Amino acid sequence: MKKGDKNNSKNKDEALVGVLRNNGYKVTQGRISILEVFSKYHIPLNAESVSGYLKNKRVDVATIYRTLKSFEEKGILRRVDLRNDSVCFEMNDSHHHHHLVCKKCGDIEDVDVCEIDRLSKIALKNSLKFKLIIDHSLEFFGVCKTCNKV
Ligand SMILES: [Zn+2]
Ligand SMILES: [Zn+2]
Ligand SMILES: [Zn+2]
Repeated sequence: MKKGDKNNSKNKDEALVGVLRNNGYKVTQGRISILEVFSKYHIPLNAESVSGYLKNKRVDVATIYRTLKSFEEKGILRRVDLRNDSVCFEMNDSHHHHHLVCKKCGDIEDVDVCEIDRLSKIALKNSLKFKLIIDHSLEFFGVCKTCNKV
């Protein structure tokens, strides 16, 4: 961390350092930089796009891959399935939400409403084998307003 950094970004870094320490990580600039990207851009990102944001930080893609996987295992990141070839992740904070994804340009928007609990109950009621639903994922795929104009 540079001394000249603004106060709020310093506080943010300290919070991220806390996240790493609480999960038993050694605090490295690479890990901090990766977490910074996720806390700054609140959209699902794959290793390549993280790498794009870290161009000047000299963190190689292989390290990013490994780090993302490890962060997922610790529950710092959660995996989001956007039906593309690469695995996307986002911060695993308490903010439960889903995503709208543009099939044409890949733009992503959060969907904050979730009516799945009701549906989960119906699914369980009709299930022969299952006792409990502990999580769900749901993403919507469509066309954004910008792409729809063309
Ligand atoms: Zn999200
Ligand atoms: Zn679009
Ligand atoms: Zn939900």
